[in-house]
Amino acid sequence: MRIPLIAGNWKMNMNHESGKDLVKKISDKVGGSDPEVVVCCPFPMLLEIGKCLSDSAIMLGAQNMHWENSGAFTGEISADMLLELGVKYVIIGHSERRQIFSETNHMINLKVKKALEKQIVPILCIGELLNEREGKQTERVLTDQLENSLANINTQEATKIVIAYEPVWAIGTGKTATPEQAADTIGFIRGWLKEKYGESSSEKIRILYGGSVKPDNISEIMKSPDVDGALVGGASLIDEDFINIVHFK
Ligand code: PGA
Repeated sequence: MRIPLIAGNWKMNMNHESGKDLVKKISDKVGGSDPEVVVCCPFPMLLEIGKCLSDSAIMLGAQNMHWENSGAFTGEISADMLLELGVKYVIIGHSERRQIFSETNHMINLKVKKALEKQIVPILCIGELLNEREGKQTERVLTDQLENSLANINTQEATKIVIAYEPVWAIGTGKTATPEQAADTIGFIRGWLKEKYGESSSEKIRILYGGSVKPDNISEIMKSPDVDGALVGGASLIDEDFINIVHFK
C-alpha cells in the first residue's frame, strides 16, 4: 500500500565536506527497499550531495522553493532550478518558515501547487504550537492549515503529496509527542483527507510524523497504521542515528 518514507531535514547545518562524508556513510546502508529515504540538504550543497547520491537509492530533497517560475525574486529558488539539480522532494511550509519567515498558508498553497505542476513531491508541513495544543485548538489549527494549504488541489494531485505532521513544541526540543498523540492527530488528519478526497484517495496519501524523532522512539511512533514515516531533523545529521531510524523495525 503506502511505502514508508524517512526524510532527513538538515536545516541550515553541515558544509560540503561534512555533508559528503555523511551521505557516504549512509548511502550504502539505507535506501532501495522499504522505506524510501530522502535527504533534504541546503541549496548550495544540492549539486554535490546529489552527485554523491547518484549511485544510491537515496533521493535528493530541498527545504523550500518559490512558487513563481522566474523573475525578480532576490534570494529565491525556483522549482526548475531544483529539477536541474535532480531534486525529487521539497519540504514546504516547515514551521520554521511559517514562524521565522512569516510564510502564510496562501504562500504555502502556491508552493505546493507549483511543486506538483513540476512533479517535485511536496512534503507539506503542518502542526500546532504548544499553547494551541494546551488550549485544545490542535484540530482547529490543523483544519485551517489543511484547508488553506490544499486549496484548489484536486484529488489526483492530492494523492502525490506527502504531509508531515510536526507539532511545533516537539521540534528540536527533545519532547516527542507520545505515540498516542502522534497516532491520534495523524488519524485526525487522515479523517480530514477522507472527507475532502474520499476514502480510497486519502488512503494513498502518506503522512509522516516529525519532532524529535530518534532511534529509540521511531518504532513506537511507526506502530500506528496511519503513520507512514518520519521527517527527521537533528538525528538526520548523525549517520548512525539516521541509519537506525531508517531500519526501525
Ligand atoms: P527535529 O526536527 O527532529 O530536530 O525535532 C524535525 C523537523 O524540524 O523537521
